[in-house]
Amino acid sequence: MSSTVIPVDPFDLVIFGGTGDLAMRKLLPALFRRDADGQIPAAARILGLARTDQDTEAFKLEAREALQQHVAAEELSAEAVERFIKRLSYLHIDVTDSSAWGDLVSYLNERPEHIRVYYLAVGPALFGTIAQGLANVGLATVKARLVVEKPLGHDLESAIELNQAISSVFNEKSVYRIDHYLGKETVQNLMALRFANALFEPLWNANRIDHVQITAAESLGVGSRGGYYDTAGAIRDMVQNHLIQLLCLLAMEPPYKFDADALRDEKLKVLRSLRPLTGRAVLSSTVRGQYMGHEADAESYLKDVGNPDSRTESYIAIKAKIDNWRWSGVPFYLRTGKKLRAQMTEIAVVFKEPAHSVFGDLETPIMPNVLTIRLQPDEGLQLHIMTKDPGPGGFRLRDIPLDMSFAEGREGSWRMPDAYERLIMDVVRGNQTLFMRGDEVEAAWRWIDPIIDAWEASGLKPEAYDPGSRGPIAAVEMMARDGRRWREIEA
Ligand code: NAP
Repeated sequence: MSSTVIPVDPFDLVIFGGTGDLAMRKLLPALFRRDADGQIPAAARILGLARTDQDTEAFKLEAREALQQHVAAEELSAEAVERFIKRLSYLHIDVTDSSAWGDLVSYLNERPEHIRVYYLAVGPALFGTIAQGLANVGLATVKARLVVEKPLGHDLESAIELNQAISSVFNEKSVYRIDHYLGKETVQNLMALRFANALFEPLWNANRIDHVQITAAESLGVGSRGGYYDTAGAIRDMVQNHLIQLLCLLAMEPPYKFDADALRDEKLKVLRSLRPLTGRAVLSSTVRGQYMGHEADAESYLKDVGNPDSRTESYIAIKAKIDNWRWSGVPFYLRTGKKLRAQMTEIAVVFKEPAHSVFGDLETPIMPNVLTIRLQPDEGLQLHIMTKDPGPGGFRLRDIPLDMSFAEGREGSWRMPDAYERLIMDVVRGNQTLFMRGDEVEAAWRWIDPIIDAWEASGLKPEAYDPGSRGPIAAVEMMARDGRRWREIEA
């Protein structure tokens, strides 16, 4: 079989925040794997940049430890590790000090022909400062690419400010807003399924689909991110970006071609078609929760964030509607939460039941077909269909999952790539298809802000739910009022 790895052009990748959690846990392991697979050219270089006063050798040591911790031992061949480590350099620079950028200029000017990628793995408060700093020293060139990650604003106003700070220096064509959910193989496979098969698209509408459920359940609590999380909550941390992006890919019209702006135009139309939730509609179409055990020493969100009066939600369920021809009347139920019974991220497209059962009364009822797109823990696609239970004993039906996971068809020791591997290489290639455009981010906030405003105006507290449970009872009731049930949260 010929190699599917297409080498990228030589690049210099600067990780602002090179010593941080994102860099060590995600970015360096992803770059290592692409290097080990032969995608990164010999001349490419990676620079870690942060305030910590240390030299390149100390940074290399940290990077080695990060690889050992976050990459499987069988992937860590000594040769691949040494080759990767040689690419690394480190500069200690405080980006808020405008006189400190000289070393970065000297480093990058050694290879003026390289593509330059500036990955901002720092808090968003520094995004504007870094963009301006790069411009001041002449590094915001046409060939350069700027990568930013969530949180992209706290509300619409701050998102607009952030976009303006970035766009005052970088053209939109050079800005890569990462939502790592879009880099997941299964999410891209959702697009292949819809647009490369004649089978699904005729069914992909309100005539055939009853509803959609998008779940991102986490079994862990807020952990060490309590301080940040308490200012954001589940709606800002998960819904505004990840869940809404999944909803857009699922609901969008076929783009006229698989190209960054064509695809993002279609996602934007979905965002603009989301029925606004305001005032009382928010209270009937959303449920907020906080995990809270009953015993004095039980786990509790309030303890975890160190704020006994917090009204921030660690769980949210939203019933969203899309006001357009294709989706009229089809609810999209979104839910996400911490400390739930399992770690699971899934999209479930639940089809309508057959118009009439020719089988009469059966022991096992006819279940609606469900297409599940799993992002976690195991990526994969399944289509649940009704079949005859084989053998004697009457005519019994059973619901079986038809596994459509693409990994099954791969030869040898194929491994599911991490989303960051794909996304970072797309940045180097200059392919923005799987990245969010500024207007998309703003449109998502435009829908989210009134929901948060309505909660604040109501003065209501989030409902308590048991750690390790399925979430607040009110979320089950919200579904039951519609005659539906949530899918099980299971790994
Ligand atoms: P972190 O562990 O706190 O790392 C922040 C990095 O920024 C450190 O390397 C820090 O090093 C550096 N830094 C801070 N101030 C600086 C300055 N003035 N000049 C130069 N470097 C500076 O944070 P993180 O978890 O990696 O997250 C970074 C960003 O990515 C955040 O916006 C976060 O929300 C986002 N994000 C993170 C993850 C994740 O998995 N961690 C996922 C999605 C998005 P020094 O202290 O040595 O300067």
